Amino acid sequence: MKTLFTGIQPTGNLHIGNYFGAVKNWITMQYDYKTYVCIVDLHAITIAYDPGDMQEKIFNLALNLYACGIDKEKTTLFVQSEVPGHADLTWMFNTVTPLGELERMTQFKDKSRHNNKNVNVGLLDYPVLQAADILIYKAEVVPVGEDQVQHIELTREIARHFNSRYGKIFPECEAYLTETPRVMGIDGETKMSKSRNNTIGLLESREDVWKKLAGAKTDPARIRRNDPGNPAKCNIFSYHKLVTLKEEKKEIVHGCKTAKIGCVDCKKKLLKNLFQVLDPIQDRYGKLILEKKAIIEILESNAAKCRQTAGNTIVEAKEKMGLKPIWKI
Ligand code: SF4
Repeated sequence: MKTLFTGIQPTGNLHIGNYFGAVKNWITMQYDYKTYVCIVDLHAITIAYDPGDMQEKIFNLALNLYACGIDKEKTTLFVQSEVPGHADLTWMFNTVTPLGELERMTQFKDKSRHNNKNVNVGLLDYPVLQAADILIYKAEVVPVGEDQVQHIELTREIARHFNSRYGKIFPECEAYLTETPRVMGIDGETKMSKSRNNTIGLLESREDVWKKLAGAKTDPARIRRNDPGNPAKCNIFSYHKLVTLKEEKKEIVHGCKTAKIGCVDCKKKLLKNLFQVLDPIQDRYGKLILEKKAIIEILESNAAKCRQTAGNTIVEAKEKMGLKPIWKI
């Protein structure tokens, strides 16, 4: 079985963009791969954050992931900072990573622009930590969106540089491009994201979600009830694509184009179908929150397992790099 590694920032409760854009795929893939899902708190501290609510966000994210269907037996879910080997390997990789490669990373340029008051070394070094996250478990498969492909290519390059200089240890991992299109925010303007305040949360009540859907823009051509519209120009239909079955989707397309269905009815159908997905997640979350102690134990035991695996890789890397003390040889 190949090893799969993926990471997620500790943003607390998840939204449907996280679920359909990433987590749903991990849930499917966890049965075919030895799967590591890492809550990447060390990555999260490269931009402004509140230390006071970090732990709550980490724990809530873990609950959300298990509620979505991350299987406690199949997936090793753990917190990055609990495994010091990630930072150790980052330092070793820093010495084989050309500075120019990091400076040309699109994400570094974007983040530097948005955080121009705090362009720290961590922002620049972010992809090297990402390479260490992946390679410390010798993962071969990394499910990512388009925006992360450049970082995976750099991970492959870092593995190549290390292997050719010190001897082969690390595999050249592959980016597994997820099929799901990027989920737009409820404003229909940018990708769904907490920072844009345009999300539909997995744990939101039906009433709150309805308020958001009711106020959401549709195809601007549908000014009056009898005006025909085009689902391809409607953000509401982009959500139908995620949750509505084929036949009903066809009816909506026809109904929209012929003005037989109104936008309010179309949104009500979306609400019903969306909650076919959200209801079970919310039920599981409600039960998991009562099992706090058991979840903490799982996270701790997973971190211990990861420390062991990561520690073995560090020993191997140190030996190759001539960092094993002479008295231990
Ligand atoms: Fe959008 Fe549905 Fe209205 Fe068509 S009927 S414009 S798909 S909300």
